[in-house]
Amino acid sequence: MPDTSPKRLLVTNIQRFSLHDGPGIRTTVFLKGCSLRCPWCANPENISHNIEKYYKDGKYGEYGKWYSCDELYAELIKDVPFFRESEENTALNTYRITSFRQLKSLPGGVTFSGGEPLLQIKKMESLLERLRGENIHLAIETSLFSSKESLNAAIKYIDLFYVDIKLLEANRCLTTIKGDLETYKANLSALLSSGCPIVFRIPVISEDAEHKNGTLDESNQKLVAQMISESLHKGNVLKVELIKEHNLGLTKYQALKDGGSDVVIPQYHGVSDAQMESYRNLILAETPADKRMPVEICKI
Ligand code: SF4
Repeated sequence: MPDTSPKRLLVTNIQRFSLHDGPGIRTTVFLKGCSLRCPWCANPENISHNIEKYYKDGKYGEYGKWYSCDELYAELIKDVPFFRESEENTALNTYRITSFRQLKSLPGGVTFSGGEPLLQIKKMESLLERLRGENIHLAIETSLFSSKESLNAAIKYIDLFYVDIKLLEANRCLTTIKGDLETYKANLSALLSSGCPIVFRIPVISEDAEHKNGTLDESNQKLVAQMISESLHKGNVLKVELIKEHNLGLTKYQALKDGGSDVVIPQYHGVSDAQMESYRNLILAETPADKRMPVEICKI
């Protein structure tokens, strides 16, 4: 049931010791609720804005729990010793930026993911303020489909943005993932102008011949490569991650379905290593020589 308090946050999971969601050792907070409907979504339990029932291993449970900012702060502050310890982990700290604020911050920190964390960010400002007060490094994983005000609130507090690039043709963006491309473009432009550090994340998703429901087609790849190239001239892009399609979310789809939800279970058709490499080469070929940044292939 939706919470009536404006300052409570709906969270599905607090995942400790994450190593892939920012520099150092991270605690990743998964916030529930997303405005998009990506058919390949690996976190289906984070899409609805409400608590949902699931059924798994012979019992019912719920995805989603309400937290006040104070309650969430109390959970996150417990992990400061681990954030501090990750000082030794230099390989994972490659992407730290030398701004005054970032130099002061601990080497590890908190990452907000989802769902779309920007949708709840205005309720989180007191939490973010307190975490910053403890010099905790803050990252966010976002699709950028949110209001301008939400993005501005994030820019005020967040040290590192992981930004998805999904579909860059307006009609496909609307029909496949239910997103307004103009909103995305305006937010990306504002974020690039802000100078905040950005890592682009590109889900590489296969599609069947009949339905164009993935991201892998040639024309989309070209648009993505061009957009990255243009972004390198305008903002602080640290690297690009190509995320290979995976089916790790299928158990959660089944659990939601068995709990009574009408989720549509995705069909994955497979992305080859050669396709990943070719996408990577395309991005590198579009990148101006004086702006080279790492383009990593990530398999989960
Ligand atoms: S933006 Fe992310 S959480 Fe939202 S539907 Fe797409 S993949 Fe799922």
